[in-house]
Amino acid sequence: MTFDTDVLVVGGGILGCCVAYFLAQEGVDVLVIDRHDVNYQASGSNAGSLHVQMESARAKRTDPVYVAAIDRSLAVFAEGVKAWQRLAPTLDRDVELRVGGGLMLAETETELRFLEAKTKRERAQGLAVDVITAAEVRAIAPYLSERVIGAAYCPQEGKINPGIATPSLVRSAERLGARFRRQCELLALSPETGGFTATTRQGTIRCHRVVNAAGSWANAVADMVGIHLPTSRRPLHMNVTEATAPLVGHLIQHASRRLTAKQAEAGNVIIGGAWPASLHAITGEPAVLRATTESNLWVAQQLIPALGHLRLMRTWTAFNITMNDANPILGEVPRVPGFFMAVPANSGYTNGPIYGQLVAEAVRGKDPSFDISGFSIERFPERPS
Ligand SMILES: Cc1cc2nc3c(=O)[nH]c(=O)nc-3n(C[C@H](O)[C@H](O)[C@H](O)COP(=O)(O)OP(=O)(O)OC[C@H]3O[C@@H](n4cnc5c(N)ncnc54)[C@H](O)[C@@H]3O)c2cc1C
Repeated sequence: MTFDTDVLVVGGGILGCCVAYFLAQEGVDVLVIDRHDVNYQASGSNAGSLHVQMESARAKRTDPVYVAAIDRSLAVFAEGVKAWQRLAPTLDRDVELRVGGGLMLAETETELRFLEAKTKRERAQGLAVDVITAAEVRAIAPYLSERVIGAAYCPQEGKINPGIATPSLVRSAERLGARFRRQCELLALSPETGGFTATTRQGTIRCHRVVNAAGSWANAVADMVGIHLPTSRRPLHMNVTEATAPLVGHLIQHASRRLTAKQAEAGNVIIGGAWPASLHAITGEPAVLRATTESNLWVAQQLIPALGHLRLMRTWTAFNITMNDANPILGEVPRVPGFFMAVPANSGYTNGPIYGQLVAEAVRGKDPSFDISGFSIERFPERPS
């Protein structure tokens, strides 16, 4: 079969779906292909945290070039949750978007000093983040352990249910005219005069422009047009407890331990924090590590003691993309006109709508709502793929 479209989006994760939604909203003919199903990989497997604060590992980097790049990106991070807040009311279901604030916890004076330095950098870029005392923490989050001696509090942080939000967004995009083809893997891509020819498992697609939104596999798609992406993928692990009465009212993170925790609307507590999974020896797919499960739950219980009374219901794993400077790659690749990148780094689900909007603007040749020049592929030295 041969299909024609103006814009071909490769990848039906949150980035690809958001790009398609914003393009379809402007009447652009757009087709999304995914080799599995939409929301099948990281976008349907993530923790649903809506992050605004810098992750602690990111904030601890000291290389001056890296620090400057991170600081420049913070203003866009502040827009990620706002973009979800604009989008969610237009969707056909409650996507469980709740902005109840986030706490990054400190248990030691060193961690507290780190949080003070971090929030200073964040406030300089317009983020609403403040260090609060142990008493203030206790007043708003009595479920936290006495071990906590302070926290960085960001009222803009929250949570969402990715299992509901992405499919709802896809339905909205379809109503606007976007098309989606599942089980349609891109195998090869040839730039030609005026566009591209894409070879897929379902046939040939001719298009004017291509958006690479293939997440952890974006490097393989970029390779098809001779572009090297400095990305890799890491298998990560998640846990969810049985449902309980309202307990964890915030998005919880830690200044130095690996921890995220939040309570879903159904009452289950979702526990993660970028703990590693292993790779299955035969399939190469991410697989649960028992040591990871135990360690992640131990940390969570240290900080939220009531979790110790709950049963673990399920664990799961998924690949997450890693970028060496922890910033996304967005916009057109100058060396391959018509080939656009929509590749996140940290907090890709939080920033899906804002990145999607920015890439859709670039595809339409509009000035971006934010300066995305710092997110160009051009920041990396050219290297043969
Ligand atoms: C365990 C875990 C927890 C996380 N927690 C959070 C969190 O709490 N908050 C947050 O903001 N972010 C979180 N993230 C990160 C976030 O989930 C990702 O950054 C985001 O979902 C990436 O979206 P994406 O659309 O770029 O990629 P994906 O969702 O991975 O989508 C890429 C799609 O491309 C498809 N594809 C790949 N190659 C091809 C091809 N050749 N042809 C056709 N299709 C192809 C894949 O099948 C896939 O569906 C987490 C990630 C993981 C793994």
